Amino acid sequence: MANHRPRVAIVGAGFGGLWAARAFAHTDFQVILIDRNNYHTFLPLLYQVAAAEVEPEEIVYPVRSILRPMGNADFLLAEVKGIDFPARTLRTTVTEVRYDYLILAAGSATHFFGVSGAAEYAFTLKTLDDAVRLRNHILCNFERAAREPDAERRRRRMTFAIVGGGPTGVEYAGALAELLRGPLKRDFPKLNIQDARVVLLESANRLLPSLPQQLGQYALCRLKKMGVEVRLQCVVDRVETDKVHFRDGASLPTETTVWTAGVRGEPSASTWGLPMDRSGRLVVDSTLEVQGLPGVYAIGDVARLEENGKPLPMVAPVALQQGVLAAKNIQRREAGKVALNFHYRDRGMMATIGRNAAVAHVGGGAFTGFPAWLAWLGVHIVNLIGFRDRLFVLINWAWDYFLFERMLRLILPAASCREPVPSPWPPTSDRV
Ligand SMILES: Cc1cc2nc3c(=O)[nH]c(=O)nc-3n(C[C@H](O)[C@H](O)[C@H](O)COP(=O)(O)OP(=O)(O)OC[C@H]3O[C@@H](n4cnc5c(N)ncnc54)[C@H](O)[C@@H]3O)c2cc1C
Repeated sequence: MANHRPRVAIVGAGFGGLWAARAFAHTDFQVILIDRNNYHTFLPLLYQVAAAEVEPEEIVYPVRSILRPMGNADFLLAEVKGIDFPARTLRTTVTEVRYDYLILAAGSATHFFGVSGAAEYAFTLKTLDDAVRLRNHILCNFERAAREPDAERRRRRMTFAIVGGGPTGVEYAGALAELLRGPLKRDFPKLNIQDARVVLLESANRLLPSLPQQLGQYALCRLKKMGVEVRLQCVVDRVETDKVHFRDGASLPTETTVWTAGVRGEPSASTWGLPMDRSGRLVVDSTLEVQGLPGVYAIGDVARLEENGKPLPMVAPVALQQGVLAAKNIQRREAGKVALNFHYRDRGMMATIGRNAAVAHVGGGAFTGFPAWLAWLGVHIVNLIGFRDRLFVLINWAWDYFLFERMLRLILPAASCREPVPSPWPPTSDRV
């Protein structure tokens, strides 16, 4: 390696890509990390941004700051548009990038399962932009409801449907119920808060299908206590701007349908001409190499690898463990050593429901309530990148916990919520 320092290009600065890049620290490799955003997003707290619980900048960290101490890594703010595998070149929105080794860590996108209107009208919760857009929309809808003279339209604006009873749907339903019944109830004393509804829709006959039965049952009871309407075995058939329709013919008037029900491989990966499964994930072998392309690896949500006959889950620990192994296998290949196989070390799963309430499936045991909630807080604070983010998230949580108040409820940009006020204004009755 005297003159030529092998160049590793990594597509995506999520959990997988970032952990892969960091595994090349103190090596002779040159790393170029490419992402369409200049920051890494801590997705497990995204729903808290959408519920005005933490600020967007508290769950992201600049990629350049993370790479700075490495010395042998650079960052390119660009979107990868195509890959010429024989020429070992990436075509991006700003330049071409040559590589000797390639790690594809492009993550995932929302899967709408072909439900009519879902892609067009439902809100998603996959990126920071999504979360800010959803937060703005909810706060705007309360402002609009406060000046809405028509009772039916007012109720529709204050009804929030969440599709999918997995961890993201459950966490968001709980956080939204707390926002409505706490801070927004106080902010809008003239609105009848009984008109505000959070409705969680799940097609299976239980919540949290990937966790043990009793944890799903606990989540159901807690959410109901918090005023969330949970509808099980409810299949969404069509989404419109002001209504969501169900397969049984019923419908729910709402201007807000949040889609958390499915995940698929990042759509841009489907243009790279690689072997994929039906959910758009790139098929890799047990060493994480893409079939038929030596030196090209896929990791995290965008990769499909089976263990014990089942595809590995699309969760952060899989992505970061795969990132480390892909980096290790590239170094072994360069040194002429045999590649290692991936084995997932599953440390369990958690989901929070609200104040003092969470579920955890750890070490084969199922835990609920305050201990699970404390464990959830600890794990998320420890895993956030950067002291500043940890400190500010902690301050926000403490403020929320002790004062039953959310720090800030900004609508940004403000123009997104401006529209003509119905006349006469103000309304004649005190309570709208
Ligand atoms: C709301 C939500 C909550 C979650 N909660 C949890 C949780 O509590 N626990 C847990 O373990 N997991 C959770 N997950 C799942 C977890 O976040 C993912 O499994 C993990 O982020 C996957 O890591 P990744 O590196 O594969 O992809 P990501 O972290 O999604 O990163 C992919 C990166 O690739 C970039 N990218 C994509 N395409 C291109 C392109 N063409 N060009 C340039 N850049 C590109 C994207 O901008 C992104 O930065 C959650 C996910 C979401 C959405």
